[in-house]
Amino acid sequence: MEKFGWIGLGNMGKPMALNLLKAGHDGIVWNRTKAKADAVVAAGAKWAGTPRGAAEGVDFLFVSLADGATLLEVALGEDGFAAGLSAGAIVIETSTISVAESTKLAEAIEAKGASYLRAPVTGSTILAAAGTIGILTSGDKAAYDKVLPLLEVIGGNLFYLGAGEQARVMKLSLNLMIATTMQMEAEALVIAEKAGLDVGQAADIIAGSAVGSPLTGYKAKLIAGGEYAPAFTVKLMIKDLKLALEAGRQYGVKLESTERTKKRLERAAEKGWGEKDFSILTKLLEEESGFTR
Ligand code: NAP
Repeated sequence: MEKFGWIGLGNMGKPMALNLLKAGHDGIVWNRTKAKADAVVAAGAKWAGTPRGAAEGVDFLFVSLADGATLLEVALGEDGFAAGLSAGAIVIETSTISVAESTKLAEAIEAKGASYLRAPVTGSTILAAAGTIGILTSGDKAAYDKVLPLLEVIGGNLFYLGAGEQARVMKLSLNLMIATTMQMEAEALVIAEKAGLDVGQAADIIAGSAVGSPLTGYKAKLIAGGEYAPAFTVKLMIKDLKLALEAGRQYGVKLESTERTKKRLERAAEKGWGEKDFSILTKLLEEESGFTR
């Protein structure tokens, strides 16, 4: 059994850490809000008082935080996790961040003689809980081979993409498609609703059709229910689309649908829905179209 550290026990971090514990691995965890670690500590993990403490003496350190700025704040400094890393340890960083932020993190980790795997995850909290989340990884291949048995516990769809920042870019490519898909679905559903169709039935038809996907499948119920409890928040999706647009500028690619969808999500955030699921784009268009269910 391996000794692992885990930093960040949010909607994604918590179920993934729990899966490692359930598989019998020995964990030490840190989260800014300590109460959110309760379930993980109850499942057998130790509590580390600081990010540094979660990195000390472990062979594998997993990280899942909101964004790049948070990540660098938690990584650097006297009590940051980079300071606690042993030479030879492997950091598996699963958050969605920019290439520039990732490169800065690489310097801090490599200065300690540790290895750094960029391992953004793809899929929802449901897949994270089921241990079937997709994991896109790039970085040192020997480190990847060592951590693979643990990745197989938390994920079902594993890809190794290269020695550098490839996984960061691929993750943003996927997320821009996920966001624009929800905007397309909002348009398809609201026109159907206004024409008198039942939204749940229409969402199920989309999910089962040629344009259906795992995403349209697991969002169908959420949209039909109308509550939009967050699996992935509006706020975080805006962050990802900003990163995708930044990558678009970096590589000289015009991303028009992404730009428009970001504006739609910003409008949703202005309505106070920043912590709702990003599929709330349907509700936004309903309201703007004068439709009440
Ligand atoms: P989340 O539930 O909002 O959790 C965010 C985590 O970041 C929490 O542990 C939070 O700590 C911590 N955090 C935020 N601000 C902080 C600060 N200033 N200092 C220290 N810690 C801070 O987010 P999530 O859904 O788990 O997402 C985590 C990462 O995975 C993000 O990069 C996201 O883009 C990516 N992702 C999410 C999904 C999804 O479906 N949710 C799917 C794929 C990828 P507290 O508990 O104290 O707030």
